[in-house]
Amino acid sequence: MPPRQAAVAIAFLYLVLGLLWISYSDTLLLKLAKESYYLNQLQTYKGWFFVSVTALLLYGFAYRAMKRERHLVENDRLTGLLNRSMFESELIQEVKQAKANQAHLAVIILNIDGFKQINKHAGLEAGDQFLIDVAHILRECCNHRTLIARLGNDEFALALPDATWPQDIEPVLNQILQRIRSIKVHQVPLLQFSASAGIALFPRDGEYAKVLIDAATHAMDLAQSKNIGGYYLFNAKISARATDQEKLLIDLKTAVSQCQFKLVYQPQFCTKTHQIIGVEVLVRWEHPTRGLVSPCEFIPLAESHHLIHGITDFVMRQAIEELTDANLLYHHIHRVSFNISAADFMHKQRSQRLVNNLSGLAGDWSVVTLELTESTALLNSEGVKQVLSPLTKRGVQVALDDFGTGYSSINTLRQLPISEVKIDRSFVTDIMENQQDAKLVKTILAMAKALNLRVVAEGVENHEQAAYLTRAGCDGIQGYLYARPMSIGQLTIFIQNRQRPSLS
Ligand code: C2E
Ligand code: CA
Ligand code: CA
Repeated sequence: MPPRQAAVAIAFLYLVLGLLWISYSDTLLLKLAKESYYLNQLQTYKGWFFVSVTALLLYGFAYRAMKRERHLVENDRLTGLLNRSMFESELIQEVKQAKANQAHLAVIILNIDGFKQINKHAGLEAGDQFLIDVAHILRECCNHRTLIARLGNDEFALALPDATWPQDIEPVLNQILQRIRSIKVHQVPLLQFSASAGIALFPRDGEYAKVLIDAATHAMDLAQSKNIGGYYLFNAKISARATDQEKLLIDLKTAVSQCQFKLVYQPQFCTKTHQIIGVEVLVRWEHPTRGLVSPCEFIPLAESHHLIHGITDFVMRQAIEELTDANLLYHHIHRVSFNISAADFMHKQRSQRLVNNLSGLAGDWSVVTLELTESTALLNSEGVKQVLSPLTKRGVQVALDDFGTGYSSINTLRQLPISEVKIDRSFVTDIMENQQDAKLVKTILAMAKALNLRVVAEGVENHEQAAYLTRAGCDGIQGYLYARPMSIGQLTIFIQNRQRPSLS
């Protein structure tokens, strides 16, 4: 009931009862005591009775309303745990007490790894239920003196009074992390979730509540950057010289959640017709302070920290959207190549994700080529084939990238549904000077022809290289000689203004 209506209802009830009381209580008294002496006495008692009952009622209403209001102010609505401001003010009190008693105190910040996946794939309700389950686990694993809070989104905090490291903290933390790992979200049964934690100790890491929370948060970031699903004890010295790599990783997580990426497209040309045969989509990270960060720097980091899936999803969806909006796909561009990492094949819902990413295509899926590196192909060809199967059935093509740099064999080429190999830039660079490289390129071409595969050479920077590759029978060429990677706007202009590149 809305507050105004509820207040009117209470006032109305009071009015009715009051009127009834006034009307009937005197009549009742007159019947009970006819003599005026007793009547006066009873009138006084009646007045006291009335005041006492209304005072009790007032107390009941006021107590309930204030308790509710305080609960709303202090607690997180979803989980019923303390909210951030209440946690901070309670922690200030705990720190004061610990100081006075010369006792220990631990602050733990906990963050759910990959929480966004639940909201994205299973819906907001499932996400809420997951957070409620985590809150339940925290309550069950901690004693009554522990402050338990949800600081926001998927971040939780604990303050353990009188707890010393490691004996009072590690067992509790291990139990919490293990129970969070066992939460199942039935809408996405294959996804497994974990939490990472950071720990700060009073008085060692700070003497103020805010400092302890910051230290624990920093330790939690490092835990996530080092080993997802683990915990990290704050260490002032290590934090001060947190390596560039760790800082980059922390920023990369933000970049993935805020989509700080943009795409560039590098055209590929047919050696015979000199037409654009397709584009390779390449990702760029626009770092807020460092500027553009090369994919060579951040892709390996993303691969080793479970962040690549988010990037792959973004790249595929965004490229399809941009190329469609620019009216290039299916009109001027008939092939678009995406780089897929070995780590993309580790995800439990890998096929479905890739299929979903292509759902924005307006036409035939055969316009899409997925470039796999040799290391992916060598993972487990049967497994890779299975993941690719729903895509290849719908016409998606597969290319083997950086060919010649790894250990793939003719066998790999035969086992996977590959239709293209890309000769790595390292061979093309020295093709004119290095006999070995020239021979290798010829061998690759002979092998590809025998297996009926298309060959694209990348990293072509001069006319000699282009002429050599064309003579050797290469089908496609990609390199700075003809086109550097460019934005969608530049690509549109490039296609409009394109004059036939001279490939000789
Ligand atoms: P890659 O797949 O071998 O991509 C070709 C790289 O060679 C690109 O570098 C491209 O800009 C560069 N390149 C092309 N032509 C020339 C040339 O003539 N000379 C020279 N020196 N370089 C040339 P980029 O864009 O820096 O990408 C580097 C690598 O990062 C890519 O190598 C690929 O392995 C990875 N990468 C880029 N975008 C993505 C992505 O969206 N997902 C994944 N998983 N990896 C990506
Ligand atoms: Ca590539
Ligand atoms: Ca390559």
